[in-house]
Amino acid sequence: ATPVSILVGTGRGAELGLLFRRGDALQRLSEVTLVGFDKTGTLTEGRPALTDLEPLAELSEGDILALAAGAESRSEHPLARAILAEAEARGIPHAPVKRVKALSGKGLRAQAEAGKLWIGNAAAMAEAEADIAPFAERAAALAAKGRTPVWMALEDRPVALMALSDPIKAEAREAIAALHKAGVQVAMVTGDTRATAQAVANALGIDRVEAEVLPEGKRDAVESLRATGAVAFVGDGINDAPALATADVGLAIGTGTDVAIEAAEVVLMRGDPTGVAKALDLSRAVMRNIK
Ligand code: ADP
Ligand code: MG
Repeated sequence: ATPVSILVGTGRGAELGLLFRRGDALQRLSEVTLVGFDKTGTLTEGRPALTDLEPLAELSEGDILALAAGAESRSEHPLARAILAEAEARGIPHAPVKRVKALSGKGLRAQAEAGKLWIGNAAAMAEAEADIAPFAERAAALAAKGRTPVWMALEDRPVALMALSDPIKAEAREAIAALHKAGVQVAMVTGDTRATAQAVANALGIDRVEAEVLPEGKRDAVESLRATGAVAFVGDGINDAPALATADVGLAIGTGTDVAIEAAEVVLMRGDPTGVAKALDLSRAVMRNIK
């Protein structure tokens, strides 16, 4: 590639809000046949809100939120912030809980006065040995709306089913359509519940979904997507860094974490996923000029 074309290309990228941290990213991007996206914070706003709260046993909504807030006040997860905000909005004080422990990719475990407290997805409930099968249809109905079901168990008894909804970014559908128009496939890679992820993917016209991926599994998911050709990955979070580094081209959302930005070759300064197709089109134009 001639240095002048690369310079002109990266300069044009800057005007479009695309920061090319490495010149060779232009060439590799032009060869990409599939783009994988993280979901939360990349295709969605990353600001979930509590939409549903269903008691499953004797605890009241107030009791449930008090316990959830007590435990989630020790978590940095976006779902935790949503639960804390709801407790705050309803003026519910936090219940005293001790020994809060994160369950990676699943939720958390803590000690409440009434017993062992578990909050998280179906895998967290499996760890609690709580039987959620009688409530599976309710959770499925919430997930079909693109909401994330979050369970709570006390010891091995399911006591609540909550749901959190994270709005899809206004430009996300257009971002996927532009990539399809450019002839590339689109995948989503997320730790979220399969049915929730599939509902969001359907709304956006995404071709493939890798869901319930553990944080340390995102790298492997991208590696297997590379079987059919060069892959770009787009993400914003700390747990996206290994996937960004493994992809042929990593693109970070500029409003995301520093760790993701450091791991990426391209930064979408406007935090808008339509930047991916713009970067792809630019890379193809530059490579055409060089040939
Ligand atoms: P993602 O950010 O893509 O959802 P994570 O690995 O962070 O991936 O989380 C996977 C799933 O584990 C979440 O969708 C949620 O169901 C559950 N989870 C993780 N942390 C928490 C938490 N603090 N409270 C409730 N659920 C959680
Ligand atoms: Mg994310």
